Amino acid sequence: MTLPGVEATRARIVAGTTSAEANLRECLERIAALNPKLQAFHTVAAQSSLARATELDALLKSGAQPGALHGVPVALKSNLCASGHETNCGSRLLAGWQAPYTARAVERLLDAGAILVGMTHMDEFGFGSSGENSAYATARNPHDPERTAGGSSSGSAVAVASGMVPLALGSDTGGSVRQPAALCGIAGFKPSYGRIPRHGLVAFGSSLDCISPFARSVTDLECAMEVLSGHDALDATSIEEPPLLRIASEGALDGWRIGVPRECFDAGAGSGLDEGVRTALEAALRRFEQLGAQCVEVSLPHLRHAIATYYIIACAEASSNLARFDGVRYGVRHTAGSSLAAMMSATRERGFGAEVKRRVLLGTFVLSAGYHEAWYQRAQRVRARIAQDFEQAFEQCEVLVTPTTPSTAFRLGEKSSDPLAMYLSDVLTVPASLAGIPALSIDCGRTQGLPVGMQILGPARADTRVLRAGRAFERKNA
Ligand code: GLN
Repeated sequence: MTLPGVEATRARIVAGTTSAEANLRECLERIAALNPKLQAFHTVAAQSSLARATELDALLKSGAQPGALHGVPVALKSNLCASGHETNCGSRLLAGWQAPYTARAVERLLDAGAILVGMTHMDEFGFGSSGENSAYATARNPHDPERTAGGSSSGSAVAVASGMVPLALGSDTGGSVRQPAALCGIAGFKPSYGRIPRHGLVAFGSSLDCISPFARSVTDLECAMEVLSGHDALDATSIEEPPLLRIASEGALDGWRIGVPRECFDAGAGSGLDEGVRTALEAALRRFEQLGAQCVEVSLPHLRHAIATYYIIACAEASSNLARFDGVRYGVRHTAGSSLAAMMSATRERGFGAEVKRRVLLGTFVLSAGYHEAWYQRAQRVRARIAQDFEQAFEQCEVLVTPTTPSTAFRLGEKSSDPLAMYLSDVLTVPASLAGIPALSIDCGRTQGLPVGMQILGPARADTRVLRAGRAFERKNA
């Protein structure tokens, strides 16, 4: 698009072609022009970001070493804590709530010289695939504003896709970064579970949640991952490895085997793949072959259980995590009568939207005495099988390639009254979440004018391998 990406932005500022302030002003102008229509941001911190840009310019003049993201404007999904900013999680219950501290990942961005521009719209607490479950506004797809930008990190995806900022953070629990990246035609990366610390991310499904970046190229994602990744003592599930380093490599993928899971391309298996998406993916696989790779068919036999498994586990964890929103500790309080219980139920009744209530009910049910074994425990067993399927598949190939979503961006309103249809749009993204493996979505073409996303998956902790395959494809495509 019109604005340069992460690396180019930093390079121009460091070389003195522009200043952090001038560059930020351009971003702010673009936001002012596009945001009323596209609804990416709910708050834009114009003043504090400009003050920070001036500070960064002065720092550079004084001879200080510029950080890896010096002067790069970033946007944050509203479930990330950033001191002084509104972390409302797309929920009425947290209207106006400001975090008292800053998430570790955000702190890392700021330490590297990034500028926090504002907070973006999202489905309430991350529950959704279209942005329509936000209590505030639904972000619109820049390719066609009558269509969804995907969810739940809709606003962050739109901010990057429309050129408002070169980099944004979202969170991916079951596809919420990969899916909007695919539908908006940009790149989004869900790293291995635990690669980016979760400290300061409002929890949805703690065993699935991954803070994940959006950018307009894989190279830019790699740049962000160098800064975001690395162990953190404040997150007990964080991987004990140093930050990811980019591997300089030529574009070729000689000798690589690309696994193509039969079930993901088989419309009969429930993925309901659109013809246009299939054609774009087949062309992408041919491009991998031109890079020296060989495509091999693999099977993920338990894939058909992934949606049911994910929605049981994600709802169970969400119902437990959301118990903290009781009108006592965070956000808005509604009083009714004089008892504590009445206050709590009034707060939750008025603060939560319909999808949140549905998930809390479902999650409480699958965890309840008597049903726990039949639902939650069984789902955990299937989850282990799905992870095993991936392990076996990776014995035959370096990475797997699938579509990111079964269809391109659907029209707003098309699925909002049918929760099950909405859940099914996650069929290709939830498996990687359940297995905790790295998954990248990149643009692989158009069908009827709308972007098609391709997903590249790798074994647990092989984040660099996945990014490298994505970068090779992107170069070939350029
Ligand atoms: N669409 C999925 C859900 O609603 C994924 C959400 C996410 O990754 N935050 O649960």
